[in-house]
Amino acid sequence: MHDTSPQPQEYIDLHIHTNYSDGTYSPSEVVHQASRIGLRAISITDHDTVDGIEEAMNAARDLSLEIIPGIELSADDGNNQMHILGYYIDWRNPTFNAQLTELSDDRLNRARSIVDKLNQIGVKIDFNEVMNISGKGTVGRMHIAQAMKKKGIVNTVQESFNKYIGNGRSAYTAKYKLRPGEAIKLIKDSGGVSVVAHPGLLKRQAIIEELIDLGLDGIEVYHTDHKPAAVKKYLLVAAAHNLIVSGGSDCHGLGKDKMLMGTVKVPYDVLERMKIKWTNNENS
Ligand code: AMP
Ligand code: FE
Ligand code: FE
Ligand code: ZN
Repeated sequence: MHDTSPQPQEYIDLHIHTNYSDGTYSPSEVVHQASRIGLRAISITDHDTVDGIEEAMNAARDLSLEIIPGIELSADDGNNQMHILGYYIDWRNPTFNAQLTELSDDRLNRARSIVDKLNQIGVKIDFNEVMNISGKGTVGRMHIAQAMKKKGIVNTVQESFNKYIGNGRSAYTAKYKLRPGEAIKLIKDSGGVSVVAHPGLLKRQAIIEELIDLGLDGIEVYHTDHKPAAVKKYLLVAAAHNLIVSGGSDCHGLGKDKMLMGTVKVPYDVLERMKIKWTNNENS
């Protein structure tokens, strides 16, 4: 007889950072944790790098956990900063990787500049301490914040952003950022699906429509910083503009003072619709 009993809902998390950017866990650790908590699929979405993907895929080989290659690119239109997620990118493509190397080189110079500014205002941290925490992959402000916490200069990572390195604070230095259209194109050109990350954090909501005009494919509806009302709102935005829905916790391991993996409940069918969009992109 056909089994009509309800199947248990399966969940995914399509926004996770590893120690290849500013997460605290290695890709293998992320994979094992995701498997332990029973997730069906995850995406590794490190800032401006795809270097953690291979390790994650290898670690998941014998597990019933799907790994979706991903990335989170920073973009700036001159007045607004935003993050664009890319899924199913051709992460081994040399041209794509060469463009990412330019972004990570700039991050290195910028981290040096932030440390110099901190030293000038009497906050004594050493660039090497930041680089030790950063380890492999891209360096960012989270590593600087963690270095400050480790030295007891601040009690939390958040305090470091609030007092010193948040946008507009005394030790802030901007990094080179792609224009939004460039970020979307970079993802498209490497065969990926582009998704605006945590739109709830955008100061100007009209940005979403501008991104759609630039070829955006989807919107991150489910996110740690989205309350139920925001989720409802962005589901309507997605439906109105025929955008695919995405979601994830934006887990940084213990980097954001607490572990978020799996805390945002994203149903597996979100991924099924994303796969359809990806297949259509490939054939268009
Ligand atoms: P970066 O890419 O180096 O500019 O750093 C971005 C990272 O810093 C992201 O993971 C953000 O979550 C985090 N971040 C940015 N602004 C803040 C803030 N005001 N408070 C806490 N974390 C922040
Ligand atoms: Fe981050
Ligand atoms: Fe982000
Ligand atoms: Zn993120």
